[in-house]
Amino acid sequence: MKEILIFFIGACFGSFANVCIFRLPRKKSIVYPSSFCPKCRRTIRWYDNIPILSYIFLRGRCRYCRKTISPRYPIVEFAMGLLTLLLYEKFWTVGLYCPFLLYFIFVFGLVIISGIDFETFLVPDIIVLPLIPIGLVGALVCANFFFYPSGQWSGVNRLMYSVSGAFTGALIVAILAIIGKIVWKKEAMGGGDLKLLSAIGSFLGWKGVFVSIFFGSITGTIISVALIYSRKKKWDDYVPFGPYLAIGAIIAMLLKGNYFLSLYFIP
Ligand SMILES: [Zn+2]
Repeated sequence: MKEILIFFIGACFGSFANVCIFRLPRKKSIVYPSSFCPKCRRTIRWYDNIPILSYIFLRGRCRYCRKTISPRYPIVEFAMGLLTLLLYEKFWTVGLYCPFLLYFIFVFGLVIISGIDFETFLVPDIIVLPLIPIGLVGALVCANFFFYPSGQWSGVNRLMYSVSGAFTGALIVAILAIIGKIVWKKEAMGGGDLKLLSAIGSFLGWKGVFVSIFFGSITGTIISVALIYSRKKKWDDYVPFGPYLAIGAIIAMLLKGNYFLSLYFIP
């Protein structure tokens, strides 16, 4: 029962993430006006705005104009609900609950960044830049921030690990961008990826940056091959790397403290 409630609260944040994904690139306010259909502009009633369920009841169409609603809406709501539940199971500890709140902010930001990067090929500064200082401050104040070994590091040690992560993330993208320019004569990764991997580093530390790239590359390869095979994309289509970095970071975060992984990657 508690699990359903936590999933639903997470899905509501997913609904708000959808508002941000639609409005931030269009430079519109995220608080006013209330949700409307992007096609007929009619205001959406509260009972048509319930995460996941309304999409199912409406069979994916607007109540008024019957135009299709993007499947991005229920997908983001479901992903945010599931991730909130997984974060709760892993990071919620009575008394020392700050790892949950900090990682929830991290995931919420990653979901919005992924949605915007997926649709516009841009990483929004207004979301990605605040994540860097939030990760640094979180590492300083929260004893369980790096989860393992919990409580064995001083705040300054954790902060240094977070700083090293932010620098490592930025440095890797900068090196890849230079190599890309020389070898392929085109932009392989941009400034958005640099800020994103820097934010990932500030939350996961420098080893977490490599784990994120590792899982992000695997996910990116699998999805790209599937899209090309199903003829939804061509070989030379531009692929935003941000969503895959975000998926890699979320996998790395959920594997924090994993014994086998800790032997190789996580302190
Ligand atoms: Zn409509």
